[in-house]
Amino acid sequence: MAGAFWCVVEDDRSGRPKKVMSEVLGEATRLVGDAEAVWLTDKASDEGLKQLGEWGATKVWLLEHADLAPYRGEVWAPVLAELVERESPRAVLGPVTSRQREFLARAAARLGVGLAADCVGLALEGDRLIATRPVYAGKLLSRVAWAKSPWVATLRPNVFRPAEARAGRTAAVERPTVKLPVAQMKFVERRDEVSTGLPELTEAEIVLSGGRGMKGPENYVILEDMAAVIGAAVGASRAAVDAGWRPHRFQIGQTGRTISPKLYMGFGVSGAIQHLAGMRTSKVIVAVNKDPEAPIFKIADYGIVADLFEVVPHLTQEFKRLLEK
Ligand SMILES: Cc1cc2nc3c(=O)[nH]c(=O)nc-3n(C[C@H](O)[C@H](O)[C@H](O)COP(=O)(O)OP(=O)(O)OC[C@H]3O[C@@H](n4cnc5c(N)ncnc54)[C@H](O)[C@@H]3O)c2cc1C
Repeated sequence: MAGAFWCVVEDDRSGRPKKVMSEVLGEATRLVGDAEAVWLTDKASDEGLKQLGEWGATKVWLLEHADLAPYRGEVWAPVLAELVERESPRAVLGPVTSRQREFLARAAARLGVGLAADCVGLALEGDRLIATRPVYAGKLLSRVAWAKSPWVATLRPNVFRPAEARAGRTAAVERPTVKLPVAQMKFVERRDEVSTGLPELTEAEIVLSGGRGMKGPENYVILEDMAAVIGAAVGASRAAVDAGWRPHRFQIGQTGRTISPKLYMGFGVSGAIQHLAGMRTSKVIVAVNKDPEAPIFKIADYGIVADLFEVVPHLTQEFKRLLEK
Protein backbone atom coordinates (compact mmCIF):
# COMPACT_ATOMS: atom_id res chain seq x y z
CA MET A 1 0.00 0.00 0.00
CA ALA A 2 1.35 3.42 -0.88
CA GLY A 3 2.32 5.27 2.28
CA ALA A 4 2.76 2.05 4.27
CA PHE A 5 5.50 1.31 6.78
CA TRP A 6 7.56 -1.60 5.47
CA CYS A 7 9.56 -3.91 7.67
CA VAL A 8 12.39 -5.76 5.92
CA VAL A 9 12.53 -9.34 7.14
CA GLU A 10 15.68 -10.78 8.66
CA ASP A 11 15.46 -14.55 8.61
CA ASP A 12 17.48 -17.53 9.79
CA ARG A 13 18.30 -18.57 6.17
CA SER A 14 15.95 -21.54 6.65
CA GLY A 15 12.68 -19.81 5.97
CA ARG A 16 11.87 -18.42 9.39
CA PRO A 17 11.93 -14.73 10.41
CA LYS A 18 14.13 -13.93 13.36
CA LYS A 19 12.68 -12.88 16.70
CA VAL A 20 13.99 -9.33 16.19
CA MET A 21 11.29 -8.89 13.51
CA SER A 22 8.68 -8.82 16.26
CA GLU A 23 10.41 -5.64 17.48
CA VAL A 24 10.49 -3.99 14.06
CA LEU A 25 6.88 -4.93 13.29
CA GLY A 26 5.81 -3.95 16.80
CA GLU A 27 7.35 -0.49 16.46
CA ALA A 28 5.92 0.13 12.98
CA THR A 29 2.47 -0.91 14.17
CA ARG A 30 2.71 1.37 17.21
CA LEU A 31 3.67 4.29 14.99
CA VAL A 32 1.05 3.99 12.26
CA GLY A 33 -1.46 1.33 13.29
CA ASP A 34 -0.36 -1.33 10.84
CA ALA A 35 2.76 -2.58 9.13
CA GLU A 36 3.73 -4.54 6.07
CA ALA A 37 6.67 -6.92 5.69
CA VAL A 38 9.02 -7.30 2.73
CA TRP A 39 10.81 -10.62 2.56
CA LEU A 40 13.66 -11.37 0.17
CA THR A 41 14.55 -15.03 0.38
CA ASP A 42 15.30 -18.16 -1.58
CA LYS A 43 12.86 -20.12 0.55
CA ALA A 44 10.03 -18.82 2.67
CA SER A 45 8.09 -21.24 4.83
CA ASP A 46 4.38 -21.26 5.61
CA GLU A 47 5.34 -21.23 9.26
CA GLY A 48 7.43 -18.08 8.67
CA LEU A 49 4.61 -16.31 6.84
CA LYS A 50 2.22 -17.25 9.63
CA GLN A 51 4.66 -15.86 12.19
CA LEU A 52 4.86 -12.50 10.39
CA GLY A 53 1.05 -12.29 10.39
CA GLU A 54 0.88 -13.09 14.09
CA TRP A 55 3.41 -10.34 14.79
CA GLY A 56 1.11 -7.87 13.06
CA ALA A 57 2.15 -7.71 9.39
CA THR A 58 -1.03 -7.05 7.41
CA LYS A 59 0.70 -7.90 4.17
CA VAL A 60 3.90 -9.68 3.18
CA TRP A 61 5.62 -8.65 -0.05
CA LEU A 62 7.33 -11.94 -0.79
CA LEU A 63 10.25 -11.91 -3.18
CA GLU A 64 11.22 -15.56 -3.33
CA HIS A 65 13.87 -16.61 -5.83
CA ALA A 66 16.72 -19.13 -5.77
CA ASP A 67 19.18 -16.43 -6.91
CA LEU A 68 18.52 -14.35 -3.77
CA ALA A 69 20.73 -16.77 -1.82
CA PRO A 70 23.30 -16.24 -0.62
CA TYR A 71 22.77 -12.59 0.30
CA ARG A 72 24.59 -10.16 -1.99
CA GLY A 73 23.93 -6.46 -1.60
CA GLU A 74 24.44 -5.85 -5.31
CA VAL A 75 21.45 -8.13 -6.05
CA TRP A 76 19.18 -7.32 -3.13
CA ALA A 77 19.43 -3.52 -3.15
CA PRO A 78 18.20 -2.96 -6.74
CA VAL A 79 15.35 -5.45 -6.16
CA LEU A 80 14.13 -3.65 -3.05
CA ALA A 81 14.65 -0.23 -4.64
CA GLU A 82 12.56 -1.23 -7.67
CA LEU A 83 9.72 -2.40 -5.45
CA VAL A 84 9.89 0.71 -3.29
CA GLU A 85 9.77 2.96 -6.34
CA ARG A 86 6.74 1.09 -7.63
CA GLU A 87 4.78 0.83 -4.38
CA SER A 88 5.85 4.05 -2.60
CA PRO A 89 5.97 3.04 1.07
CA ARG A 90 6.53 5.93 3.46
CA ALA A 91 9.13 4.11 5.54
CA VAL A 92 11.43 1.12 5.16
CA LEU A 93 12.62 -0.26 8.49
CA GLY A 94 14.90 -3.18 9.26
CA PRO A 95 16.79 -4.53 12.27
CA VAL A 96 20.50 -3.83 12.75
CA THR A 97 22.11 -7.07 11.59
CA SER A 98 25.32 -7.49 9.65
CA ARG A 99 23.30 -8.15 6.51
CA GLN A 100 20.78 -5.31 6.84
CA ARG A 101 23.37 -2.74 7.84
CA GLU A 102 24.77 -3.09 4.35
CA PHE A 103 21.57 -3.92 2.49
CA LEU A 104 19.54 -0.93 3.65
CA ALA A 105 22.47 1.45 3.21
CA ARG A 106 22.81 0.32 -0.39
CA ALA A 107 19.04 0.49 -0.96
CA ALA A 108 18.86 4.02 0.51
CA ALA A 109 21.74 5.15 -1.70
CA ARG A 110 19.99 3.73 -4.75
CA LEU A 111 16.78 5.50 -3.85
CA GLY A 112 18.67 8.73 -3.18
CA VAL A 113 17.29 9.05 0.37
CA GLY A 114 18.84 9.17 3.81
CA LEU A 115 19.42 6.27 6.15
CA ALA A 116 19.14 6.61 9.92
CA ALA A 117 21.28 3.73 11.15
CA ASP A 118 21.16 2.02 14.52
CA CYS A 119 18.08 3.87 15.83
CA VAL A 120 17.08 3.53 19.47
CA GLY A 121 13.89 5.59 19.16
CA LEU A 122 11.34 6.56 16.51
CA ALA A 123 8.51 9.07 16.82
CA LEU A 124 6.04 10.64 14.44
CA GLU A 125 5.89 14.40 14.91
CA GLY A 126 3.25 15.83 12.63
CA ASP A 127 4.01 14.40 9.23
CA ARG A 128 7.68 13.78 9.99
CA LEU A 129 9.40 10.74 11.40
CA ILE A 130 12.08 11.59 13.94
CA ALA A 131 14.77 9.02 14.66
CA THR A 132 16.95 8.98 17.76
CA ARG A 133 20.37 7.42 17.30
CA PRO A 134 23.56 7.28 19.36
CA VAL A 135 26.57 9.22 18.06
CA TYR A 136 30.17 9.63 19.25
CA ALA A 137 30.39 6.03 20.44
CA GLY A 138 27.11 6.41 22.30
CA LYS A 139 28.10 9.50 24.32
CA LEU A 140 25.32 11.58 22.75
CA LEU A 141 21.94 10.89 21.26
CA SER A 142 21.05 12.76 18.09
CA ARG A 143 17.57 13.32 16.68
CA VAL A 144 17.37 13.24 12.91
CA ALA A 145 14.67 13.61 10.28
CA TRP A 146 14.74 12.80 6.58
CA ALA A 147 14.74 15.38 3.79
CA LYS A 148 12.43 13.13 1.79
CA SER A 149 10.71 9.77 1.98
CA PRO A 150 10.89 6.85 2.03
CA TRP A 151 12.40 7.07 5.48
CA VAL A 152 14.95 4.26 5.67
CA ALA A 153 16.13 3.20 9.11
CA THR A 154 17.74 0.30 10.93
CA LEU A 155 16.57 -0.41 14.48
CA ARG A 156 18.85 -1.64 17.24
CA PRO A 157 17.75 -5.08 18.56
CA ASN A 158 16.41 -5.42 22.11
CA VAL A 159 15.46 -1.72 22.32
CA PHE A 160 11.97 -1.62 20.82
CA ARG A 161 9.06 -3.40 22.49
CA PRO A 162 8.22 -6.59 20.58
CA ALA A 163 4.78 -7.09 19.07
CA GLU A 164 2.66 -9.55 20.96
CA ALA A 165 2.07 -12.56 18.77
CA ARG A 166 -1.66 -12.99 18.25
CA ALA A 167 -2.67 -16.44 17.08
CA GLY A 168 -5.00 -16.44 14.11
CA ARG A 169 -3.89 -13.03 12.82
CA THR A 170 -2.79 -13.52 9.20
CA ALA A 171 -1.04 -11.47 6.54
CA ALA A 172 -2.05 -11.25 2.90
CA VAL A 173 0.83 -12.51 0.74
CA GLU A 174 1.71 -10.66 -2.45
CA ARG A 175 4.36 -12.05 -4.79
CA PRO A 176 5.45 -9.15 -7.00
CA THR A 177 7.66 -9.73 -10.03
CA VAL A 178 10.91 -7.84 -10.12
CA LYS A 179 14.01 -8.06 -12.26
CA LEU A 180 16.96 -9.72 -10.56
CA PRO A 181 20.27 -8.17 -11.63
CA VAL A 182 23.09 -10.49 -12.64
CA ALA A 183 25.56 -10.71 -9.76
CA GLN A 184 29.17 -9.77 -10.40
CA MET A 185 30.18 -11.61 -7.25
CA LYS A 186 30.08 -15.37 -7.57
CA PHE A 187 29.30 -17.70 -4.71
CA VAL A 188 32.26 -19.96 -3.98
CA GLU A 189 31.71 -21.77 -0.72
CA ARG A 190 29.73 -21.42 2.47
CA ARG A 191 31.34 -22.46 5.72
CA ASP A 192 28.89 -22.62 8.57
CA GLU A 193 30.13 -21.33 11.88
CA VAL A 194 30.19 -23.89 14.64
CA SER A 195 27.12 -23.27 16.75
CA THR A 196 27.74 -22.55 20.42
CA GLY A 197 24.28 -23.78 21.36
CA LEU A 198 23.85 -20.44 23.15
CA PRO A 199 21.61 -17.55 22.00
CA GLU A 200 22.93 -15.24 19.31
CA LEU A 201 24.91 -12.32 20.69
CA THR A 202 22.84 -9.46 19.27
CA GLU A 203 19.51 -11.07 20.15
CA ALA A 204 20.28 -12.41 23.61
CA GLU A 205 18.54 -10.90 26.62
CA ILE A 206 21.59 -11.65 28.78
CA VAL A 207 25.19 -11.28 27.61
CA LEU A 208 28.33 -12.30 29.49
CA SER A 209 31.41 -10.60 28.14
CA GLY A 210 34.95 -11.77 28.82
CA GLY A 211 37.92 -9.45 28.42
CA ARG A 212 41.69 -9.74 28.70
CA GLY A 213 41.19 -10.57 32.37
CA MET A 214 40.01 -14.04 31.25
CA LYS A 215 43.74 -14.75 30.75
CA GLY A 216 43.29 -17.29 27.93
CA PRO A 217 40.82 -19.01 25.58
CA GLU A 218 40.56 -22.11 27.77
CA ASN A 219 38.95 -20.09 30.56
CA TYR A 220 35.86 -19.04 28.60
CA VAL A 221 34.36 -22.38 29.54
CA ILE A 222 33.46 -20.90 32.95
CA LEU A 223 31.42 -18.17 31.23
CA GLU A 224 29.84 -20.73 28.90
CA ASP A 225 28.82 -22.82 31.91
CA MET A 226 27.15 -19.82 33.50
CA ALA A 227 25.58 -18.87 30.17
CA ALA A 228 24.05 -22.33 29.81
CA VAL A 229 22.41 -21.96 33.24
CA ILE A 230 20.85 -18.55 32.61
CA GLY A 231 20.32 -18.67 28.84
CA ALA A 232 22.94 -16.04 28.01
CA ALA A 233 25.23 -15.40 25.05
CA VAL A 234 28.98 -15.06 25.56
CA GLY A 235 30.82 -12.13 23.98
CA ALA A 236 34.30 -10.69 24.28
CA SER A 237 36.33 -7.50 24.18
CA ARG A 238 38.59 -6.70 21.27
CA ALA A 239 41.67 -7.44 23.36
CA ALA A 240 40.41 -11.02 23.76
CA VAL A 241 39.52 -11.28 20.07
CA ASP A 242 42.84 -9.81 18.93
CA ALA A 243 44.62 -12.35 21.12
CA GLY A 244 42.82 -15.07 19.16
CA TRP A 245 40.82 -16.26 22.17
CA ARG A 246 37.41 -15.76 20.55
CA PRO A 247 36.32 -15.36 16.90
CA HIS A 248 35.58 -11.82 15.74
CA ARG A 249 31.81 -12.48 15.52
CA PHE A 250 31.78 -12.42 19.33
CA GLN A 251 33.45 -9.01 19.65
CA ILE A 252 31.38 -6.31 21.34
CA GLY A 253 32.13 -2.68 20.59
CA GLN A 254 32.78 -0.04 18.02
CA THR A 255 34.46 -2.43 15.58
CA GLY A 256 32.37 -5.43 16.64
CA ARG A 257 28.72 -6.03 17.49
CA THR A 258 26.37 -3.57 19.12
CA ILE A 259 24.24 -5.18 21.78
CA SER A 260 21.43 -3.95 24.00
CA PRO A 261 20.54 -6.84 26.29
CA LYS A 262 18.44 -6.62 29.45
CA LEU A 263 21.54 -7.66 31.39
CA TYR A 264 25.22 -7.25 30.45
CA MET A 265 27.87 -8.75 32.71
CA GLY A 266 31.51 -7.88 32.01
CA PHE A 267 34.28 -10.09 33.42
CA GLY A 268 37.84 -8.77 33.26
CA VAL A 269 36.77 -6.00 30.87
CA SER A 270 38.26 -2.59 31.64
CA GLY A 271 35.54 -0.56 29.90
CA ALA A 272 37.42 1.24 27.12
CA ILE A 273 35.29 3.76 25.22
CA GLN A 274 35.31 1.53 22.13
CA HIS A 275 33.89 -1.38 24.14
CA LEU A 276 31.26 0.84 25.77
CA ALA A 277 30.16 1.96 22.29
CA GLY A 278 28.82 -1.54 21.74
CA MET A 279 27.03 -2.17 25.05
CA ARG A 280 26.26 1.06 26.88
CA THR A 281 22.53 0.87 26.04
CA SER A 282 22.23 -2.42 27.96
CA LYS A 283 19.45 -2.06 30.54
CA VAL A 284 21.45 -3.33 33.53
CA ILE A 285 25.25 -3.44 33.56
CA VAL A 286 27.24 -5.57 35.99
CA ALA A 287 31.05 -5.44 36.08
CA VAL A 288 33.47 -7.80 37.77
CA ASN A 289 37.00 -6.46 37.86
CA LYS A 290 39.97 -6.68 40.22
CA ASP A 291 40.76 -3.02 39.75
CA PRO A 292 38.40 -0.65 41.63
CA GLU A 293 39.50 2.17 39.28
CA ALA A 294 38.48 0.30 36.10
CA PRO A 295 36.42 2.72 33.94
CA ILE A 296 33.63 0.17 33.48
CA PHE A 297 32.54 0.85 37.07
CA LYS A 298 31.56 4.38 36.01
CA ILE A 299 28.69 3.06 33.89
CA ALA A 300 27.96 -0.14 35.81
CA ASP A 301 24.74 -0.45 37.82
CA TYR A 302 26.38 -3.10 39.99
CA GLY A 303 30.08 -3.72 40.47
CA ILE A 304 32.08 -6.47 42.13
CA VAL A 305 35.72 -5.69 42.86
CA ALA A 306 37.17 -9.18 42.91
CA ASP A 307 38.98 -11.88 41.00
CA LEU A 308 36.60 -13.15 38.34
CA PHE A 309 37.91 -16.69 38.74
CA GLU A 310 36.53 -16.70 42.28
CA VAL A 311 33.29 -14.88 41.45
CA VAL A 312 32.12 -16.75 38.34
CA PRO A 313 31.82 -20.26 39.87
CA HIS A 314 29.94 -18.79 42.86
CA LEU A 315 27.53 -16.92 40.62
CA THR A 316 26.95 -20.01 38.48
CA GLN A 317 26.19 -22.09 41.58
CA GLU A 318 23.87 -19.44 42.94
CA PHE A 319 21.99 -19.05 39.63
CA LYS A 320 21.61 -22.83 39.46
CA ARG A 321 20.23 -22.94 42.98
CA LEU A 322 17.78 -20.12 42.37
CA LEU A 323 16.60 -21.40 39.00
CA GLU A 324 16.15 -24.95 40.22
CA LYS A 325 13.79 -23.78 42.96
C1 LIG B 1 39.86 2.08 16.54
C2 LIG B 1 39.67 1.17 17.70
C3 LIG B 1 38.57 0.34 17.74
C4 LIG B 1 38.36 -0.50 18.83
N1 LIG B 1 37.25 -1.30 18.87
C5 LIG B 1 37.00 -2.06 19.96
C6 LIG B 1 35.83 -2.85 20.06
O1 LIG B 1 35.00 -2.94 19.15
N2 LIG B 1 35.63 -3.55 21.20
C7 LIG B 1 36.52 -3.55 22.24
O2 LIG B 1 36.26 -4.21 23.25
N3 LIG B 1 37.63 -2.80 22.17
C8 LIG B 1 37.91 -2.08 21.05
N4 LIG B 1 39.08 -1.39 20.98
C9 LIG B 1 40.13 -1.64 22.00
C10 LIG B 1 39.91 -0.91 23.29
O3 LIG B 1 40.51 0.38 23.20
C11 LIG B 1 40.56 -1.67 24.46
O4 LIG B 1 41.92 -1.89 24.17
C12 LIG B 1 39.91 -3.02 24.73
O5 LIG B 1 38.50 -2.87 24.83
C13 LIG B 1 40.48 -3.57 26.04
O6 LIG B 1 39.95 -4.84 26.25
P1 LIG B 1 39.85 -5.42 27.75
O7 LIG B 1 39.00 -4.53 28.56
O8 LIG B 1 39.48 -6.84 27.62
O9 LIG B 1 41.38 -5.39 28.20
P2 LIG B 1 42.12 -4.47 29.25
O10 LIG B 1 41.89 -3.03 28.96
O11 LIG B 1 43.52 -4.96 29.29
O12 LIG B 1 41.39 -4.79 30.61
C14 LIG B 1 41.47 -6.01 31.26
C15 LIG B 1 40.81 -5.82 32.60
O13 LIG B 1 40.74 -7.06 33.27
C16 LIG B 1 40.94 -6.83 34.65
N5 LIG B 1 41.38 -8.11 35.21
C17 LIG B 1 42.56 -8.76 35.00
N6 LIG B 1 42.55 -9.94 35.63
C18 LIG B 1 41.37 -10.03 36.29
C19 LIG B 1 40.79 -11.02 37.12
N7 LIG B 1 41.42 -12.18 37.41
N8 LIG B 1 39.57 -10.78 37.65
C20 LIG B 1 38.92 -9.62 37.39
N9 LIG B 1 39.41 -8.66 36.58
C21 LIG B 1 40.63 -8.87 36.03
C22 LIG B 1 41.96 -5.73 34.72
O14 LIG B 1 41.88 -5.04 35.96
C23 LIG B 1 41.54 -4.87 33.53
O15 LIG B 1 40.66 -3.83 33.92
C24 LIG B 1 39.31 -0.53 19.90
C25 LIG B 1 40.41 0.32 19.85
C26 LIG B 1 40.59 1.15 18.77
C27 LIG B 1 41.78 2.06 18.76
